[in-house]
Amino acid sequence: MVQAEESPTLAPVVENPFQMAVSQFDAAAERMNLRDEMRDSLRRCHREFTVNFPVQMDDGCHRTFTGYRVHHNETLGPTKGGIRFHQGVTLDEVKALAMWMTWKCAVNDLPYGGAKGGVTVNPKLLSRSELENLTRRYATEISYIIGPQKDIAAPDVNTDPQIMAWIMDTIAMHEGHPVPAIVTGKPIRLGGSEGRVEATGRGVFFCAQEVARHKNLSLEGATVAVQGFGNAGQVSAYLLEGAGARIVAASDTSGSIYNGKGLDAQGLARLKQQRGRLAESGAGDLITEDELLTLPVDILVPAALEAQITVRNAPRVKAKIILEAANGPITPQADDILGDAGTLVVPDIVANAGGVIVSYFEWVQNLTFERWPEDEVNRRLHTVITKSFHESLRLAETEKVCLRQAAIMLAVGRVIEGFELRGIYP
Ligand code: NAD
Repeated sequence: MVQAEESPTLAPVVENPFQMAVSQFDAAAERMNLRDEMRDSLRRCHREFTVNFPVQMDDGCHRTFTGYRVHHNETLGPTKGGIRFHQGVTLDEVKALAMWMTWKCAVNDLPYGGAKGGVTVNPKLLSRSELENLTRRYATEISYIIGPQKDIAAPDVNTDPQIMAWIMDTIAMHEGHPVPAIVTGKPIRLGGSEGRVEATGRGVFFCAQEVARHKNLSLEGATVAVQGFGNAGQVSAYLLEGAGARIVAASDTSGSIYNGKGLDAQGLARLKQQRGRLAESGAGDLITEDELLTLPVDILVPAALEAQITVRNAPRVKAKIILEAANGPITPQADDILGDAGTLVVPDIVANAGGVIVSYFEWVQNLTFERWPEDEVNRRLHTVITKSFHESLRLAETEKVCLRQAAIMLAVGRVIEGFELRGIYP
C-alpha cells in the first residue's frame, strides 16, 4: 500500500483505503450534523476477523496464507460483500471495502449490512488445485462468521463463479446439506442468478445512460477509456460500445492500449480470455497507465483497484464523466480537484452497485427456490440502480454537494434510521 507522504504545500496524501473511506464518511457526517456517538460507531468496523492458515501446495509442502473477513455494520440486515484474492490485500483494504458495502447496500435500499473478505495471495501464481485448496481452507476458517442469514459472500477481484462453488461446497460439507444462499455469483447450475456475471458492468452502463441524459450527452459516438479490463470493465465496455460509444483505451496488469478508431470490446474480451494479456493483443498502441487515465475522453471507467486517481494525476484528468466501476478508485483529495474542474463522478456505491443488487436477487431466488429469467433480473436491476442514482442526484442538487457525498448521506441516513428503530441509539 502506498504510504501517506508529506509535502510542504499540500495536505498529506491519503491513499490508505480505510483512511479514504473514513474521510468520505466524516465529510458526510459533518454535513449531516451526526451525533458523535453514531459517528464513532460508524467510523469503525463491527467485526474484524484475521485468519492465518496453511495450504498444501502441489509439491507436498505447506504455505501459510493470511485472510480476512470484516463486518462493518449489520443494522439493516445480514452483511454482504465480496471476497478478493490479491497480493495487495490488507486488513485496512478489507475494512474500507466493508464500509463502502454498508453504504452501497443502504443507498440502493437493499436489506443488508456491509462486509468484505480477502486473502493476501497472487492467485495467478497458484495451480488450479492449489487455488481450490486455498479457497476451501479459507472458507472453513471464516465459516464461523458467514452464513445465509448472517453474512453472504460474493466474487470480487480474482474470484469467480468457480471459487464461489468451492466455498458453497465446503460449507455444505460442514453443514451436511446444501447452503446455496451462503454465496452469490455462483454458477447458474448451482443456484446462481441469470445476469449476475454481467450485473456490475450492466449497472455501470445503466448509470452511464442516466448521467448522459442528465448532462445532455449522447452515448452514440462518446469516447471511453476503461482502466482494468476484468469482469466489471469488460461488460461496461461492451455495453457502452453496443450503445454506440467508442472504447478508445483499455488496460489490465499487462499494460494499457489505445486505438483512436475504437477497440472491439467484445472481441478483446474473448481474446483476453484465450491469451490473458491485453498488452499482447495487438489491438492498439501501447500507452502508459497514466496516459490512459488522463486521455481527453468523454467517459473514464476506472474498473481496477483503489486509489488510482490521486493528487498526482487528478489535475491532468480530462474526462467529462467518471463512472466508478471499481471501489474507491479516486482519493478524497483527487475528488476535490475533479469537483473543482467540473468533472461529474458517479461514485462506486451507485455506479458499481449492479453486482450486489443482482447478488441480492440471487439470494432471494435461493431462499424462495425460484428462478427468474434474465430479462426480469435486468429489468429489476434497472429499476433499483436508476432510483438510487436519481435519489443521490436530487440530494446532491438540494444540498449542493457532490454525488458521492449525497449518496453517502442518503446511506448513512438510512443506517441511522435503523439504529433508532432498533433502539440502539434512541
Ligand atoms: P477482475 O479480477 O475480474 O478484474 C480486474 C481487472 O483489473 C483485471 O483485468 C486486472 O488485470 C486489472 N488490473 C488490476 N490492477 C490493475 C492496474 N493497476 N492497472 C490496470 N489494470 C489492473 O475484478 P472485477 O470483479 O472486475 O473487479 C474490479 C473492480 O470492480 C474492483 O474494484 C472490485 O471491487 C469492483 N467491483 C466488482 C464487482 C463484481 O461483481 N465483480 C462488483 C462491484 C465492484
